[in-house]
Amino acid sequence: MAQEDRVPKCDFCGRLSTQAPLVESPLKRAHICLECVAHIHEIAQREWRPASRLKNWEMPQTSPGEIKAYLDEYIVGQESAKRKIAIAVYNHYRRIAAFIAEKDKKPATRVEKSNVLLIGPTGTGKTLLARTIAELLKVPFAIADATTLTEAGYVGEDVENVLVRLLQAADYNVELAQIGIVYIDEIDKIARKSENPSITRDVGGEGVQQALLKLLEGTIANVPPKGGRKHPEQSFIPVNTENILFICGGAFEGLDKIIARRLSHQIIGFKREKREEHRSDSFYGYVQPEDLRKFGLIPEFIGRLPVIAVMEPLTEEALLRILKEPRNALIKQYQQLLAWDNIQLNFTEEALRKLAQEAVKIGTGARALRSLLETVLEEILFERPKGSTIEVDAAWVERYLQPLRAAG
Ligand code: ADP
Repeated sequence: MAQEDRVPKCDFCGRLSTQAPLVESPLKRAHICLECVAHIHEIAQREWRPASRLKNWEMPQTSPGEIKAYLDEYIVGQESAKRKIAIAVYNHYRRIAAFIAEKDKKPATRVEKSNVLLIGPTGTGKTLLARTIAELLKVPFAIADATTLTEAGYVGEDVENVLVRLLQAADYNVELAQIGIVYIDEIDKIARKSENPSITRDVGGEGVQQALLKLLEGTIANVPPKGGRKHPEQSFIPVNTENILFICGGAFEGLDKIIARRLSHQIIGFKREKREEHRSDSFYGYVQPEDLRKFGLIPEFIGRLPVIAVMEPLTEEALLRILKEPRNALIKQYQQLLAWDNIQLNFTEEALRKLAQEAVKIGTGARALRSLLETVLEEILFERPKGSTIEVDAAWVERYLQPLRAAG
């Protein structure tokens, strides 16, 4: 096969991908080059108004208060974070609704995007919060892990891969993907290692922040349709990120000390009671952009995450509620699973409390609850005693957790 046959070419004019950038059809192995796109665009502008593929998407008739109420059904606690997210998401989609309605008109005031930074320990509901919002708004949702990303040219994934998953979630409806939500986990892991920009390049940290910055602020990103590393002969799908809501999350361990240090400087001269107040509260709640800069995020990156919400560690009480109360509460899930086999599963209040107490000790937030339940219910899930009623009490929980403790 001649070398030329392997290089993708434009199916309209025959230009090779080495001569003009190609866009690949998501459905077939067909390509078009940007020269042809520009030409067709010119004709379309002159002669035709396409119906927007977004015509079926409508902003849910809702208010920040209703968004918060919806979140309450799925997420226990985290009141302050839910409030902030409700406001940010409402504003974001107001902006998009206006954008769709006035596509041809320029709005009098350009309203900037409000991407969100979620700070909080693992298993406290950061991903759940982002996913729940996407479900409410009926927009595509994708999760990415910041630690797998690298700036172009280094080993790892290009940042554009974040958008590949969003495109997939949107069934390659680009317009729908362009109003989707992306959750980027472990954002704290791409912090610069030292506060001062050093001469040696910081491959994992600052470079990735720089690359992500463009997506966050809004750009036309060239997305390889199937993901993977970019290479010159590849075609791509242009995706405008201007209306994509980015929610970045991370535990930011050690940030509390940075905040505490700043506060203790400010506290000098304060009255004594004020000082006590600061000491008893979680410091994360007082986070300011300058603390994030000290932590190792670059100022431009912080600037693109104007909404900062803090997730609280889950207390025993909160974990207890998580077991029972949310729409898809874990207990309800296991009850349903067993009900299909005609088994009725009940828990005593003491049993649930014991599970919550155990989860607090494990320290991975609500994530611990699931594995604890798997352990405690393993025998029932295996035996499936059809037609029976199972009563799980504190002694039962204790019996199954004993070997776990001995091993740990
Ligand atoms: P994070 O992203 O903060 O590490 P996740 O959102 O992935 O945590 O939480 C893991 C699981 O724990 C979720 O799927 C959910 O079942 C449960 N969970 C965590 N926090 C909460 C919460 N505040 N309310 C209800 N469920 C929660």
